[in-house]
Amino acid sequence: MTVNLLDFGVEGLTGFCAEIGEKPFRARQLLRWIHQSGVADFAGMSDLAKVLREKLAATAVVESPRVISDHIASDGTRKWLLSVDSGNGIEMVFIPETNRGTLCISSQVGCALACTFCSTGRQGFNRNLTVAEIIGQLWWANKALGGESGSEEAESSVNKQEAVQSPGRSRAISNVVFMGMGEPLANFENVATALDLMLDDNAYGLSRRRVTVSTSGLVPAMDRLRERCPVALAVSLHAPNDALRDQLVPVNRKYPIKELLAACQRYLQSAPRDFITFEYIMLDGVNDSISHARELVQLVRDTPCKFNLIPFNPFPHSGYQRSSPEAVRLFRDVLMQAGLVTTVRKTRGDDIAAACGQLAGQVLDKTRRVQRTGHEIMQATR
Ligand code: SAH
Ligand code: SF4
Repeated sequence: MTVNLLDFGVEGLTGFCAEIGEKPFRARQLLRWIHQSGVADFAGMSDLAKVLREKLAATAVVESPRVISDHIASDGTRKWLLSVDSGNGIEMVFIPETNRGTLCISSQVGCALACTFCSTGRQGFNRNLTVAEIIGQLWWANKALGGESGSEEAESSVNKQEAVQSPGRSRAISNVVFMGMGEPLANFENVATALDLMLDDNAYGLSRRRVTVSTSGLVPAMDRLRERCPVALAVSLHAPNDALRDQLVPVNRKYPIKELLAACQRYLQSAPRDFITFEYIMLDGVNDSISHARELVQLVRDTPCKFNLIPFNPFPHSGYQRSSPEAVRLFRDVLMQAGLVTTVRKTRGDDIAAACGQLAGQVLDKTRRVQRTGHEIMQATR
């Protein structure tokens, strides 16, 4: 049976090498060839013995999801649709900025959590992505963008010999965010294995502070992440009280705000940053009044945090409207006056539907969303 080496994390690849009778250092060589140099053809892995290259060619492949379409928006934002199997597709977005390049990746085909304002949530859920499908997004984008990913920290650790071998290589992707399709913490093991690869110096060498998991608030999995692989955390809060959050983010009925904030406090004990980023979508007339902002200030008064206000990105039949710029400004001012660092997310890639919450992909829904209640959907995600 052929194995896909993109499915292996650092440990898995070492185990695979042991199985085929190779020493652990071969795993490090393979990691570098596959993830740093983006090489998929074993014949090109010049420092591996010919016998090993032939053995690998007979038993393994390096295969990422296949690109179906590629669009570039007027602001430089780039969106790819990737096929993960027949009928299912995921989306991935690259956002270039002056000082960084952020790749926004998906963790599931669809999402079972059914937030009412989210296009992915509306489409239902098919399955978790495999490790190869998650890390394969970074692997592929890295190649497509013509550079090697990495943070300044990793850059300084590049040895001289490598620098000579690949002069002038750029680092197009400096940051990765799990803000595409799906709830990353509902696909815990595969996401954690992909995170290990993102951070490993033999693979992508990204800094923990530059890899962000965004969650709608799966409390037990937040604790697991803290123990297993603490990276930067963004929490989709979206409401200042349980009554409203129950409506917008149905999983709140299972993990209400008080429990969520307690999990944030625990996470901060191991987090690479000393604050949690709260994402707050701005929905006209729903959660965007000055009194909501004041309630929010009270709610988070004991939690070190920053706010990221996200103007709602519309999609067909959403039933919501984006808050006016004036409402966003007033809301931000209340938070700022209370001493909370608050940014308003710029809407990127508008003309190609690449903004947050607009990623649609192709989802063969298995949850029969329309026939089911939110309660049943939550049961299914246990
Ligand atoms: N499931 C995770 C990560 C993917 S969603 C989560 O919910 O955090 C990434 C971000 O996009 C979340 O903050 C989510 O609330 C936000 N989002 C979803 N739909 C949106 C929309 N239509 N407009 C703007 N942001 C949206
Ligand atoms: Fe899932 Fe996040 Fe969309 Fe909610 S906002 S449905 S958790 S992808």
